Amino acid sequence: MARRPDYYKTLGVDKKASAEDIKKAYRKLARQYHPDRNPGDKEAEARFKEISQAHDVLGDPEKRKQYDSGSGPFATGAGPGGGFGGFGNFDFDGASMSDILSNLFGGSTSGRRVRTKPRAERGADLEAQVSITFDQALAGAQVPLQVPMRAGCPTCRGTGAKPGTTPVVCPRCEGRGIETQGQGMFSISQPCSRCHGAGTIIEDPCPTCQGTGAVNTIKRIRVNIPAGVRDGSRIRLAGKGEPGRNGGPAGDLYLITHVEPSPLFTRKGDNLEVEVPLTIPEALRGAEVKVPTLNGTKTLRVRPGTAHGTVQRLRGEGPPKLSGAGGKQEKGDIHYRFVIDVPQNLSKEQESAIEELSKTLDGDPRAGLFAASSSRETEAGDAA
Ligand SMILES: [Zn+2]
Ligand SMILES: [Zn+2]
Repeated sequence: MARRPDYYKTLGVDKKASAEDIKKAYRKLARQYHPDRNPGDKEAEARFKEISQAHDVLGDPEKRKQYDSGSGPFATGAGPGGGFGGFGNFDFDGASMSDILSNLFGGSTSGRRVRTKPRAERGADLEAQVSITFDQALAGAQVPLQVPMRAGCPTCRGTGAKPGTTPVVCPRCEGRGIETQGQGMFSISQPCSRCHGAGTIIEDPCPTCQGTGAVNTIKRIRVNIPAGVRDGSRIRLAGKGEPGRNGGPAGDLYLITHVEPSPLFTRKGDNLEVEVPLTIPEALRGAEVKVPTLNGTKTLRVRPGTAHGTVQRLRGEGPPKLSGAGGKQEKGDIHYRFVIDVPQNLSKEQESAIEELSKTLDGDPRAGLFAASSSRETEAGDAA
């Protein structure tokens, strides 16, 4: 029976070698014995297979454990002819192949891809800030905007080549955009070092854009701001961003809206809020008060005994809702928050009237604060 192969010896590492050490040893040996470096050398090829097989086992923690314990499919290691002959059937399947290559060169391989013309690229997405008034935010508006962006160079029409000249086929890759090293199954492809994958090079760069094909410009556009936007809303304008290259689609433009605050209304989500001051008698006895709306005024009935902070709402009088998908646009509400207007100074007459009132309104509204706990009452007494 054939001896099972010593994978540690194959890689030249200790049995206690770390995963990192095994990887290092494998890379070094794989480079050394790679068939591309040793064309026609059967011995090197066999050695390369042994190294790959050893790494396949020792590089996998699970397989390595099985191998170390002497169990698993590697325990016998038999093969015709003994020794390392067992590896004659070692199969370079697709997975281990790309594994080997990416281990060696730190990247994927794309040998089959042949590029005949420059790749179409989508333009970049842009962001712009737009300031509008409170009324414009409610009604919607069309605003002019100047957006700085990179756009196709007008001198060379985006080719990057000086007018009268054209980009020429890259002599290094002959227009394929990729370079191939090695031969047969071990060939490695990577983007062409001369043209960086474009397949063409520019011999006389355009003086306007220095051969980049694009220039900085300011595009003037008019944008429609939908009714109902808020301060900080983000609006996507599809296709209004940077133009694409080589026939690619344009990017999108995102508008961030800044809405001037209203002196009267405060935006609260889909609704607006207004503070409505009430005099003390109005709060006590009730009243009919005029309040502002977005289109004029309305009258609200204030109930007798209205507390400070009470909110009354007028439904559907608020700003349009942005989310209204098709059909008629829904509107938010206006919330009227009543605040009791407490005078800072009293006339003699008012003072005597309050004096009279206090004789009848002489209950203790704070009694409930102390009823629950007697210990709290003690603390309050101590603090006084
Ligand atoms: Zn140009
Ligand atoms: Zn090239």
